[in-house]
Amino acid sequence: MEAVKSYRIQVEAPKDLIEEYFQVKQRALDAIFLHVKVSKKAHLNLKAEDRKKLRDELLKDWRFSKHYVDSAINSVIGLVKSWITLHNMGRAESKPKITKRTVYIKSTLFSFRNGILKISIEPNKRYLEVDLTKYDWIPSDFDRVGGLILAQKELIITVKKSVKPKADKWASFDVNLTNVTSSINGEIKRYDLRELYHIHRTYETKRQRIQKLSKFKPLTSKRLLEKYSKREENRAKDFMHKLTTQIARELKEKNCGAILENLKGIKRRILNDSKDMNRKLSKWNARTFQFMLEYKLKWLNLPTKYVNPKNSSKTCPLCSGSMASYLGRLMKCEECNIILDRDVVAVLNLQMRGEGFPQRALDEIIEGEGLSRNENNNSLCIPT
Ligand SMILES: [Zn+2]
Repeated sequence: MEAVKSYRIQVEAPKDLIEEYFQVKQRALDAIFLHVKVSKKAHLNLKAEDRKKLRDELLKDWRFSKHYVDSAINSVIGLVKSWITLHNMGRAESKPKITKRTVYIKSTLFSFRNGILKISIEPNKRYLEVDLTKYDWIPSDFDRVGGLILAQKELIITVKKSVKPKADKWASFDVNLTNVTSSINGEIKRYDLRELYHIHRTYETKRQRIQKLSKFKPLTSKRLLEKYSKREENRAKDFMHKLTTQIARELKEKNCGAILENLKGIKRRILNDSKDMNRKLSKWNARTFQFMLEYKLKWLNLPTKYVNPKNSSKTCPLCSGSMASYLGRLMKCEECNIILDRDVVAVLNLQMRGEGFPQRALDEIIEGEGLSRNENNNSLCIPT
């Protein structure tokens, strides 16, 4: 199994390569789009010889390494294919467009030795060198560097290593609007998300103010909206990165894998229900948290498993009876009368569904609720 991490670093990219690569992509697009046949449905009919002809044509006054032309053609084919998919769903614009001035750099175009990344620009005479040891936040325990993406002012670098995730204990997580609740091998712990909620709220207010402007200055307001959305996303992601890095370290110390809610199937309903901002934010939190935690754990050789979250905050983790809202965030079991916080109910159920009920959590609940254990059959004596 392979673990992957990506990092952005600031570099000054060769302007001529960026510009000419962009033009080559434009030319490739014009040529390849002629091979898109549209009857009822669109499809691409590009034969190997067409591709070779195009390649030879594009290479005529190309002074950079030849692989860039191959990478440009591949990237344009990918773009055209996704356009076709959209088109056949009735959702495409009239023609695909190349918008980004980015260069995809295949592994054949660079070498990596002693921490130095050496990217070939012009064959045997011009290189872009990046010393990765200067960036202490990039891990050094990787097996290889994957593909690179070069933009005008930055390089996105992907590092990979092979892993065999394994854990002897498990932690489950329930992500809400204002906190992440976890049961780390039965020990309940909460992580505060109020700062993140505040970030979202602040930008929401800003957006509402800008939208009022849109009647009079549509272009300015569009530009501002984009700017603020990007900033909001960056700040929110930054927060989530710090949190998931911290949690991944804690789990590594305890050699715990993660049990997370399987959110598939919930997706469509939430997207359509876009008016409910808090629900949307909650889902954003859950998805981003899960995504980041999983790949960070994988890098540390720890597994993640997903379990069905259905009724996880409404089922009693002790007796499987159904629980009803009691007071605030508290839930009460209609069968055994135990009262527990709903987030705690959720993580205990997730943990149970993933790995069986942790003894430690059981002991704490018994103590907290003033219950005692029936020595003869290990069942609980519930005070009535
Ligand atoms: Zn119960």
